[in-house]
Amino acid sequence: GRHDGQVDAVGFEYRGIRFAQDTLNVFPGLCAVDNRENVEATFKAIGAAGVKTARMGAYKPRTSPYDFQGHGKDCLPYVFELAGKYGIQVVAMEITREQHLDEIREALRQVGHPTGVMLQIGTRNAQNFELLKVVGQQKEFPVLFKRGMGITLEEALNACEYVASEGNSSIVFCLRGVKSHLGAPHRNMIDFAHVPVIKRLTRMPVCVDPSHSAGRRAISPDGMTEIHHATAEGIIIGANMVLVDFHPDPAHALCDGPQALTLEELPAFLDDVSLVRQTY
Ligand code: PEP
Repeated sequence: GRHDGQVDAVGFEYRGIRFAQDTLNVFPGLCAVDNRENVEATFKAIGAAGVKTARMGAYKPRTSPYDFQGHGKDCLPYVFELAGKYGIQVVAMEITREQHLDEIREALRQVGHPTGVMLQIGTRNAQNFELLKVVGQQKEFPVLFKRGMGITLEEALNACEYVASEGNSSIVFCLRGVKSHLGAPHRNMIDFAHVPVIKRLTRMPVCVDPSHSAGRRAISPDGMTEIHHATAEGIIIGANMVLVDFHPDPAHALCDGPQALTLEELPAFLDDVSLVRQTY
């Protein structure tokens, strides 16, 4: 913990990319890997925009057991190989059990480590203490911890202590909205006001996930999507990382299509991020 009110400029470096309280990294990408073609199109667009970080979901924790659960380990070799092909250095990827860590290690070894992985702990596993200890006991991969959708900030910070106290302090704290019975205007209540609170209380860089917070890309009267608005909010208040869903064809995405931006929208989205960052 820290209590001196200063941002921590040290942070950590992974695969040549710095993650700290004074950096900003955007991780656009697929919520769920559906097929090789869409992974390639997505990495190609991200690489062409000069971005070296991306998100990709292989193991999907879904509300309904009848919904697409992700391709799991079968897609990992081509996901990592294609990331390397387009210059992506870090892929943020959720794991939901220890075995997934072994599968990621094995796939990276198989294709010769063309990229790195940031292990994502999803909102549903924010208090899965055994899983938190597992990612804390290794130092090969940094950890992206997502705040539980129904837990207090203090409980979420304690969850990060489970990772750090096992030996891995390369952690990024992610806000992704919290449950509220209000229901509108967003799927979740956006909790980005906690960005500076976490930066003041801890040494962790802070990520925002506008896609899972807003839950839909509905257009506002000003012509921007709710995703753009939530992203700007997060950056204005000091976020160090943005995790955001893109898809080549959102209408046919197998998971969370309604919140995905299209690949054509990526360059302008990144321009907006830079502009907001420069302004604030
Ligand atoms: C995700 O980022 O793919 C995801 C499932 O997010 P969350 O755990 O925040 O719902």
